Amino acid sequence: KYSQLYRARRRVAETKDKFRVTLKANVAMVSGLDEILHLGAQGVGLFRSEYLFMGRDNLPEEREQMESYRELIDTMAGRPVTIRTIDVGGDKLLSAEARKRNYFSSAEKEDNPALGLRAIRFTLANPNLFITQIRAILRAASGADVRIMLPMISSLQEIREAKRYIELAKTQLREEKLEFNEFVPVGIMIELPAAVICAEELLAEADFASLGTNDLIQYTLGVDRGNPSVAPLYDECHPAVLRLIRAAVKAAQKQNKPISICGEMGGRREMVPFFLGLGINELSMVPMQIPIVKEMIRSLKRSSCQRLTLKLVKSRDSGEVRKLLEQFTEKGV
Ligand code: PEP
Ligand code: MG
Repeated sequence: KYSQLYRARRRVAETKDKFRVTLKANVAMVSGLDEILHLGAQGVGLFRSEYLFMGRDNLPEEREQMESYRELIDTMAGRPVTIRTIDVGGDKLLSAEARKRNYFSSAEKEDNPALGLRAIRFTLANPNLFITQIRAILRAASGADVRIMLPMISSLQEIREAKRYIELAKTQLREEKLEFNEFVPVGIMIELPAAVICAEELLAEADFASLGTNDLIQYTLGVDRGNPSVAPLYDECHPAVLRLIRAAVKAAQKQNKPISICGEMGGRREMVPFFLGLGINELSMVPMQIPIVKEMIRSLKRSSCQRLTLKLVKSRDSGEVRKLLEQFTEKGV
C-alpha cells in the first residue's frame, strides 16, 4: 500500500471537481531532507528554526545560521520555504548555559511557561538574537522563494515591532553592502484565540497566515498539549476549534491574504473534507502524511465537502463532528 502511495508522488493534489491544494512539509532539520521531495512535498510550509538553537550552549552566529538556511533552501530546489522565527519558551527551552551566557531576558523558571515569555515575545525581548536571525534568513534568501513567519502573534503591536526589526536588519545589510533578498514576505501564525478574533486587523499588516492548530487547540480549550492526564480533553474535533478555524479562514479571504494550516491537524486524513469545505488550498504537515492526504483529496468532491462543513460547524459537540466525518468518508462521496 505504501509503495503505491510513494509512486503517487508525481500526481497533483486535486479534488474530483478540480480544486487544487498545495501540500508542504513541516521540518525541524536542515539535512537529510531528500526524503520529503520523494514524498511529494511542494515546499516547506513550516521550518521550526528553534531546533537550530536548542540542545547547545553556544548559539549559532549569523554565518552558521545562514549556512543552515541555505542548506534547507538548496534542498528544496526552488520550492517555497517558510522559516518560522525562533519559537522557544513554553516546553521548548534553550539550555540553561546558553541563557546565562547570552544574558537573555527570560525567567529561569516560569510557573506557566505556555503563557510565558515564549515565541515572538521572547524574540522581541531579545532583539539582538532576533535581528541576527533575520539577517541570516534575508541573506540566505537571496534569489530564493523564502518567507518569514512570526509565531504566537496576539496583537498588531507585535507584528509592527517585528517588522521594524526586519527593516532595521535590511538597513544594516544595505549599509554593509551584503547581498540579501529585499522582498521576503512576512506572515503570522494564528495560534491564539485572540489572533483569530482580530485576524482581519492582523492580516491587514501581514502577507499571509498559517494556522498553528496545536497551540490553537491548547489555548482554546485550556488543555496543556503535552500533559497526558488531560490528553482526552485535547480534542481537535471540538466545535469551538472548528468554528475558530472557519473564522480565521473567512478573515483571510476578506483580506485577500493566503492562509494555510501547519498544525498536526493539517496532516490528518479525516480532517481533509473540513479543510476543503472551507476552501483552504494549502496544508503543511509531517512529511509521511503527504501521500495519504493527497489520496484523500483526490477521492473527494469539493462541493460535497462544502455542504458537510456547514453541518460540522453547527455540531453541538465533538461526538457529532466525528460521526459526520465518519459517515461522509464511508459514503466515499
Ligand atoms: C502549532 O502550534 O500548531 C504549530 C504548528 O507550532 P508548534 O507545534 O511548533 O508549536
Ligand atoms: Mg505553535
